[in-house]
Amino acid sequence: MAFRLTLWYVFVFVLSATVAFALFYLLILRLISQRTDEDLITNANRLAQVYALEGGEMLRRAALLQVQTTGEQKMFFRLFYPSGVFFSSSNMTYWKNIGIDRKAVDAVLEEGRLFSLVTQPIPRRPYNARIIYKRIGINVVLQLGVSLQNESHLVETFKRTFVITMSVLLLIAVGLGWIMARSALAGVASVTQTAQKISEEDLDTRVPVLHRHDEIDQLAVTFNQMLDRIKQLISGIRQMNDNIAHDLRSPIARIRGLAEVTLTSDGGMEEYAQMAASTIEECDRLLQMINTMLTISRTEAGVDPITLENVDLAKVAREACVLFQPLAEDKQISLHCSADSPCSVRGNEQMLQRLIANLVDNAIKYTDMNGSVWVTVNSADGNVVMEVRDNGPGIPPEDHRRIFQRFFRGDQSRSVGGAGLGLSLAQAIVRAHGGSIILQSMPGQGSTFTIALPRQDSH
Ligand code: ADP
Repeated sequence: MAFRLTLWYVFVFVLSATVAFALFYLLILRLISQRTDEDLITNANRLAQVYALEGGEMLRRAALLQVQTTGEQKMFFRLFYPSGVFFSSSNMTYWKNIGIDRKAVDAVLEEGRLFSLVTQPIPRRPYNARIIYKRIGINVVLQLGVSLQNESHLVETFKRTFVITMSVLLLIAVGLGWIMARSALAGVASVTQTAQKISEEDLDTRVPVLHRHDEIDQLAVTFNQMLDRIKQLISGIRQMNDNIAHDLRSPIARIRGLAEVTLTSDGGMEEYAQMAASTIEECDRLLQMINTMLTISRTEAGVDPITLENVDLAKVAREACVLFQPLAEDKQISLHCSADSPCSVRGNEQMLQRLIANLVDNAIKYTDMNGSVWVTVNSADGNVVMEVRDNGPGIPPEDHRRIFQRFFRGDQSRSVGGAGLGLSLAQAIVRAHGGSIILQSMPGQGSTFTIALPRQDSH
């Protein structure tokens, strides 16, 4: 990864440097050649003027003077007739047999152009000459040329500088790219290392967060959060295993004890029949517990798609109150139901029945003789809100969260029957319906369970 990043970095770096260099090079070249052309045009115009005003001899002298001041190796001139025959020139030893560009001459003579500029090779020289052709009289054509030696020298220097600079830049880019890629990926490496160190026993290792506020930090934080969650889940599973083991042990121990007692005592058939009846009872309780556990897990995981229908929660609450009336009367508890106007929710009727039954059952179960239980259903803010309130013993604040955990039972509840699964199931059902369940309670002041489910407006 670091290697690939470096490669990309170097590629982009070198490409942009090359483009910048090339642009610079072209610009300089253009500027120089523009200046050369302008000088040639000015000189040719001046010589044409001299010829027009002062005749051929003065032209020759002026041209010679011009060549001598510029340098015979740098500049030359020739005068020739339209037929191509020369009649005057500067010292041509350096320029050898530099020819005439016929096309350029034709452009001047036949097409009537003011002048024509061409680049021509100088025989046996590694550079070119820039040459202007201009007709300066009816029968006279001027050929004025300058060598491009300086320019080609400049190009050479430029190329050399380019190669050297690029090599240095390349080295820097590779080094810099490698360092940058390594430091960018160092965070990822520490996440990987932590991940490798983690086993089921060691869930406490965390990736160091360097607070650089970059993506790697985000990755580290997210990774640590995930570890926290996994740790939580694993300890939850362990806790549940302990609870299951504990809660399954008691009924099985009871069954075993009963069988042992029956075996050792020499009672008759009647005693055996009683043992069988108790065993069935205990097994039923076990089965019910296991079934409830399964229902909670399935509801939480959303394994079985629940069939949804419009359910009037007020009606379900009224029915539950009717059902639980005898139980309440047994404990001389007054059960009040206030659920008169229809309150529709989208849900599964059977599950909602179970939810209400669990809460009302708890309220009656934990409230002392002569207490009261209130069940109310009404709608508010797009929700259907159901309240199950009692004036029982209440729940201490430290247990408020735990009572929704599987198998949790309050300390004072040991004397009453139950497996500690009722509220877990209630919570799973509420969540499966997209709602919420909250508890308000203080020891000695009763408990209120409030459930809010999204209201289904009947059309
Ligand atoms: P169970 O009733 O089988 O013990 P639940 O999950 O229904 O299991 O309840 C868990 C615990 O919450 C109970 O053991 C009890 O301590 C406490 N609890 C639930 N409802 C009430 C209530 N209405 N009043 C007081 N305590 C309650």
